[in-house]
Amino acid sequence: MRIIFIGPPGAGKGTQATKIIDGYKLVHLSTGDMLRAAVKAKTEIGLNAEKYMLSGQFVPDNVIIDIISDRLNSQDFKAGFLLDGFPRTLPQAQALDEMLQKNKTPLDVVLELKVPDDELYRRLAERGRTDDKPDVIRNRLTVYAEQTAPLLQYYEKQSLLKTIDGQGDVNAIFERVRKILDKFIG
Ligand code: AMP
Repeated sequence: MRIIFIGPPGAGKGTQATKIIDGYKLVHLSTGDMLRAAVKAKTEIGLNAEKYMLSGQFVPDNVIIDIISDRLNSQDFKAGFLLDGFPRTLPQAQALDEMLQKNKTPLDVVLELKVPDDELYRRLAERGRTDDKPDVIRNRLTVYAEQTAPLLQYYEKQSLLKTIDGQGDVNAIFERVRKILDKFIG
């Protein structure tokens, strides 16, 4: 099963992603995690990406596309994957489509985790990551609305989009996810 997971910062993607990869034995590909690892290891990509991340901006498309295409070409994804935090822009989505077409591995479903803005602010303020300061949070939500939200339409047109209510208990949300994903097994 090949899945894209889309949702604004604070929607609970990370928590649900962990449950999905455990439950369905998928490989978890998170560009945010990859970038944080690169920052920690002080690689060239990490040093370059850090300034964007700290201000809530997106890292440039070409950097992200290179990171993901390296992974998609080097790893065995027979069991499938969950893409988390990628694609986040239309050029990234188009680049991904090309990669998947070349490998003859089309997507099964795009999951959108939906949470109202006031709830997102509350959750992000509690999380306390270095990019979770109030003005950075505002910036990240604006960037999401401007650059990532258009992807929902892009995938809707391909009949791949499924929207899940991201409010409520973690396990109740996972049940909603399962109802959708179970249809793609077998
Ligand atoms: P995340 O953990 O997915 O919220 O990502 C944290 C930060 O990493 C984002 O605020 C961006 O600065 C950067 N980032 C992660 N994935 C991407 C992506 N696909 N495109 C651009 N920037 C990204």
